[in-house]
Amino acid sequence: MVLSSVLGFPRIGKNREVKKAVEAYWAGKSSAEELQKVAAETRKWNWTSIKEQGVDLIPSGEFTLYDHVLDHSAAFNAIPPRYVGLGISDLDVYFAMGRGRQADGVDVPAAEMKKWFDSNYHYVVPELSEQTEFKLNYNKALNEYKEAKAAASPNFQPISLLPKLLPIYKQLLSELKAEGVTWVQIDEPHLVMDVAEQHAEHYTSAYTELVKDAPNLLVTTYFGRLGSNLSFAAKLPVAGLHIDLDREPKQLGDVLNAVKDTSLVLSLGLVSGRNIWKTDLTAAANLGRQAVETLGADRVIAATSSSLLHTPVTLASENKLTNQQKDWFSFALEKAGEVATLAAILSDSQDAAVAKKLEENKASIAQRRDFEHNSDDAVRKRVAAITSEQLQRKNPFPVRREAQKKHLSLPKFPTTTIGSFPQTKEIRQARAQLTKGAITEEQYEEFIKKEIDSVVKFQEDVGLDLLVHGEPERNDMVQYFGEQFQGFVFTQNGWVQSYGSRYVRPPIIVSDVSRPHPITVRWSSYAQSVTKKPMKGMLTGPVTILNWSFPRVDISRETQSKQLALALRDEVCDLEKAGIYAIQVDEPAIREGLPLRRVDWDNYLTWAVDSFRLATSGVEDSTQTHSHFCYSDFNDIFPSIQRLDADVISIEASKSDLKVLNAFQQFGYKNEIGPGVYDIHSPRVPGEQEIKDRIKAMLNLLPADLLFVNPDCGLKTRGWKETEASLKNLVAAARWAREEF
Ligand code: GLN
Ligand code: ZN
Repeated sequence: MVLSSVLGFPRIGKNREVKKAVEAYWAGKSSAEELQKVAAETRKWNWTSIKEQGVDLIPSGEFTLYDHVLDHSAAFNAIPPRYVGLGISDLDVYFAMGRGRQADGVDVPAAEMKKWFDSNYHYVVPELSEQTEFKLNYNKALNEYKEAKAAASPNFQPISLLPKLLPIYKQLLSELKAEGVTWVQIDEPHLVMDVAEQHAEHYTSAYTELVKDAPNLLVTTYFGRLGSNLSFAAKLPVAGLHIDLDREPKQLGDVLNAVKDTSLVLSLGLVSGRNIWKTDLTAAANLGRQAVETLGADRVIAATSSSLLHTPVTLASENKLTNQQKDWFSFALEKAGEVATLAAILSDSQDAAVAKKLEENKASIAQRRDFEHNSDDAVRKRVAAITSEQLQRKNPFPVRREAQKKHLSLPKFPTTTIGSFPQTKEIRQARAQLTKGAITEEQYEEFIKKEIDSVVKFQEDVGLDLLVHGEPERNDMVQYFGEQFQGFVFTQNGWVQSYGSRYVRPPIIVSDVSRPHPITVRWSSYAQSVTKKPMKGMLTGPVTILNWSFPRVDISRETQSKQLALALRDEVCDLEKAGIYAIQVDEPAIREGLPLRRVDWDNYLTWAVDSFRLATSGVEDSTQTHSHFCYSDFNDIFPSIQRLDADVISIEASKSDLKVLNAFQQFGYKNEIGPGVYDIHSPRVPGEQEIKDRIKAMLNLLPADLLFVNPDCGLKTRGWKETEASLKNLVAAARWAREEF
C-alpha cells in the first residue's frame, strides 16, 4: 500500500495564534507557561486536522516558536558564548539568539539570519566554531554551560565538527527508537545543491554511523533535483529517500533507476509545498504509478514536496475569494487531503469517495485550464512582440549622464533616501478606516496629500537634494502594486511565516498581468508640484513582485516577469510624462530568486535583468533611473548587476566592512552608486563624524563623482525623531564631502 505523508506544516496557527502568543510573551504580557500552552494547542490542532484529512505519516517535531533551525542549534548546544551565562531562562536565551535582547541589563544582538534556499523564509544561521561543544540540551538548563574561551581560527571548517555532532544525533535517535518511533525524517535539502558533491564521503560515513541504533531514517531532499548527488544519495544505508517531483518531475526516471535494486522506500514529493495551486491529481498519480510499477506499492510514499510551512494554513479561513477562485487553490490543510487521496489512488483503492474526489479534481483542473487559456490575449501578444530595442536605453550611460546633469542639476555627492518615510500609527489607521468604509476615498486622498506635504517639507528643511514622496499610500511594496494591477488575487488570512513572528501574505498571480490605469503618477506628480527640488518616482520591480507573490504554474516565471515589466514600463513612461525625471525601480529580491544549481543561473539572470531593462528603458536619456537592493550579497552575480544598467543603484553597505564595494572596484563599475551610509534597522542615530568616515572609506574604493549619499534602505519602520537626527547628520556629512573632495 502506498502511504501518504506531509513533510511539515505551518507553525503559525490557524488564526496566527502563535505570533500573538510569542509577541505577548516578548512584551512581558504573558508567561512562558501561557506561551507553551498555545504552542501545544497549535500542535494538537495541526496533528488532528492533518489526520482528519486521512494522512498516514503525520509530522511532529518540526513545530517551532521561532525557527526550526534555531531549535536544532539550541537542542545541540550550539550556543555562541555571547548568549551563555546571561542569567535568563533557556527560552529567553533561545529568543535572544533569534532576535537579540535588550532588557534587564542584557544587551545582545541576534544571530545572523539567512533566506532558506530560494524561499522567502528566513532561518537563524547556526554559529559553529572549534569551541562548539555539542550536547543534547533539550531539557537541560542552558545557563549551566561553561563559557567557551578562545576565538575561532580563520581556517576553521564547520564540517570538521561532524565527528562531534554525530554522537549527539545518535543519542537522540536511539532515544526516539526506544520510545517506539518507527520513522524519522531527516531534512537534507543541501543535497540539491552543487556543493553537496564535495561532501559525498561525509554523507556516507555520517549515515553509516547514524543508522546503527535508530528508527528508519528518511533522507529528505526538496526545492530541487538530486542531479549528480544521486550517485551517493541513493547508496546511503538509510531506509528511505524523499525527492521533490513538484519542482523536478524529470528526475523520477533517474532516481527510480538508482534505487530499484536497493531496498529504499521512495517518498515522492507530488503535492507542492511551495505554491497554493490545487494539485492535478491525475498528473501526479501518473508520476506515482511509474514509481509503484518499478518499486511496488509498499516502497512508495505519496507526500508533499517539502514542508508546508511555505503555504497558508487553510482555505477555510477565506470568505472573500469567489467560489471559482477557491476552486483553484489548495492551502496546507487541503494539500494534506490531496496526499491522502493520492496514496489511495496509487493503492488502487476501490473506495467510491476516492473516485469522486478524483473526478472533482479533474473538473476543477479543467476549469482552471480553461480560465488560463482565456486570459488576456493582448498581454500575451505584447510579450511575444518584445524587441531588443525595448531592452535598451537610447544611449550609453556616459551620454545619459551628461543629459541628466543638465536636467536634474544635482550637486556632487547628491543626497537622497530609498523611498519610504516613517509609516506612523496615523497612516495605518487611515488605511484601516478606508478599508472599513469609515472614511471616504476623498478623505483618504486628502490625508495622503497632507502626509506628502509634510514629508516634502521635512526633506527640504533637512536639506536633501533628490526628494521622494514617502510612500504613505502603500501597505506593502508588493501588495500595493498587485492590488492595482489586473491579474492578482488577495487572501484575507493567507499568512506565511517569513521569520520568527513576522508573517507575510503574498499576493497570488492568477492570470495575465496588466496595468489598467496609472498607479503612482498622481502621488509623485502631486509631490513634485509642491517643491522646486527634483522628485524621485518609486516603483517595485518586476522580479521582486514575482518573487514575493505566489506565481502561476501554467506559464513560466520568465513570462510572468515580462508581463509585469511591461506593465511597469507604462508606469515609468507615464511618470516621465508627468514631469518626474528620476525614477527608482526597486529589485531587492533579485538575488533570492537565483536558482539553486549554478547551471541554471544564466537563464534566470538573463530574463531577470532583461525584465528590469524592459521596465526602465522606455525613458529619455535625461531621465535618471535608479534601483535599490537590500541585500548586497552579489559578488558572484556582479556582471548581471552591471547589465541592469540603472543610472544609479543604492545598496546596503553600512553593516558590512565595505567588502561589497570590492566587486564594483574590480569590475570598474561606471554608473552612479549610493552605498548606504547608515543602518536603518536600528533606532540608533549615526553621528556626523561616523558618516564622514564612511564616505571617506568608500572613496578609497569608488570615484567621488559616482557617489550618492543615502541610508541603507527605506525608513518606513523608523520613528520621526531618529529619522530627522540621522538625515541631518547625513546631509552635513555630504556637504563636508563636497568641500573636501
Ligand atoms: N522603496 C522601498 C522603501 O523605501 C524599498 C524597500 C526595500 O527595498 N525593501 O521602503
Ligand atoms: Zn532595501
